[in-house]
Amino acid sequence: MRVVRLSSEIDFDGWRTAARRLRAEGVAPDAVLWTVEADLFEAAPVETPSPAAGAFTVPPAFVDLARSVVLHRSGERFSLLYRLLWRLEREPRLIENPADPDMARARDMQKAVARAIHKMHAFVRFRLVETEPETYAAWFEPAHRVTEAAAPFFARRFTNMTWTILTPDACVAWDGQTLKVSEGADPADAPSEDAQEELWRTYYASIFNPARLNERMMRQEMPKRYWRNLPEARLIPELVETAQARAAAMVAATPSPPPDRVLKAALRHARDGAYNGDLPTSLDEVAAAAQVCRRCALWRDATQAVPGQGAAHAPLMFVGEQPGDQEDLAGLPFVGPAGQVFEAALKEAGVPRDRTFVTNAVKHFKHEPRGKRRIHKTPDRGEVTACRWWLDAERRLVRPRVIVALGATAALAVTGKAAPVGESRGRPLQLPDQGGGQAQLVVTYHPSFLLRLPDADARERARAEFVGDLRLAGELAKLID
Ligand code: SF4
Repeated sequence: MRVVRLSSEIDFDGWRTAARRLRAEGVAPDAVLWTVEADLFEAAPVETPSPAAGAFTVPPAFVDLARSVVLHRSGERFSLLYRLLWRLEREPRLIENPADPDMARARDMQKAVARAIHKMHAFVRFRLVETEPETYAAWFEPAHRVTEAAAPFFARRFTNMTWTILTPDACVAWDGQTLKVSEGADPADAPSEDAQEELWRTYYASIFNPARLNERMMRQEMPKRYWRNLPEARLIPELVETAQARAAAMVAATPSPPPDRVLKAALRHARDGAYNGDLPTSLDEVAAAAQVCRRCALWRDATQAVPGQGAAHAPLMFVGEQPGDQEDLAGLPFVGPAGQVFEAALKEAGVPRDRTFVTNAVKHFKHEPRGKRRIHKTPDRGEVTACRWWLDAERRLVRPRVIVALGATAALAVTGKAAPVGESRGRPLQLPDQGGGQAQLVVTYHPSFLLRLPDADARERARAEFVGDLRLAGELAKLID
């Protein structure tokens, strides 16, 4: 019996060197024992990998497969790989045979390792452990030995942070330039809670859509074994428990239909094309008539038009991009995740929401189906221009002193021209009077932009700018001092 001792649990290079030598010497798979334990097989002569004299080649796909399989926790991985290597000499097409039990087992292990890397990318949560210099740490227990394989992703994603990921298998540390690997850590070394936890929980609660809860899928995507290290996991039982009630509340919050008289007038006007000359005379009429609008094709796939909502003569009007998934179902603007970010920022800025009017550049939800989900699609210029008619109607009726365009699409809808947010935000701009009186424009980010920023620092900076822009608009509209 040949006993090969590898230098670590994931010693792919050692395995490859030893496997080449053993194969060159004609040592059959069942005559080899692979180990990384220092004190096992004391009685047997133990060899460390040493290069073979002659070289031979294997398909690159096998090398990729072997690199992954080595990271699996199964104790049979090294011997399985050597058995496959041995057989490849006699069965050159073995790698293409999914029905072969050895190949099937290796492929399953490869998939499990890929899954473990994916989960690590998704569920590592850094916590602030030092402020001078700012240093973050995360504790994670991967399903397989994937720490080093997963680490380059974090180096790319969090390049400007100094961080360490501790796992029972290995620790990886990034100082802004190099990744360093050291021995595994103990759970007692796991960093404790910091202020970031609350941020994660707020974010998770805000993106949780009770109307679309699929508990089985959620548990499958976020297995319980990872919950311990996820700040947001604490919310899951409560969110699941209250999902039904929250979904019912969303339905109950659906706006009441306009009076029959208004609805009939709106339908007649729309059918007769009277709106080409006439203008709606009330916000109720706008809301009713938008339901039968055919100015562009977006009505076809949406549940309903979502008109603006708020104080009839609000001095401050907010214009978003378009209704999202939840707004489309509820028939109300800004009730989804972005709406919650918006609400929180308004509160922080001190702007009373009940004295504002909130609407969108485009009144129907543009999306594309992906499985059971409806994925947001940005409305194009033609759709924004078509729907501008309704926005102008709302502007004329509300006559706001200040309009805030939330994002580039809203800025396009309000001004009729492309206005990149980066160039125009943070200062008041004068709008020409289009029948709604003089108004000033403030351009700022769309709240969903803040939700999408992956970097915590950038997100916090943008959020502070967003709150500042809302405060400026509130002051211009004389809603705050
Ligand atoms: S998106 Fe606007 S213009 Fe297009 S159908 Fe809906 S209401 Fe009409």
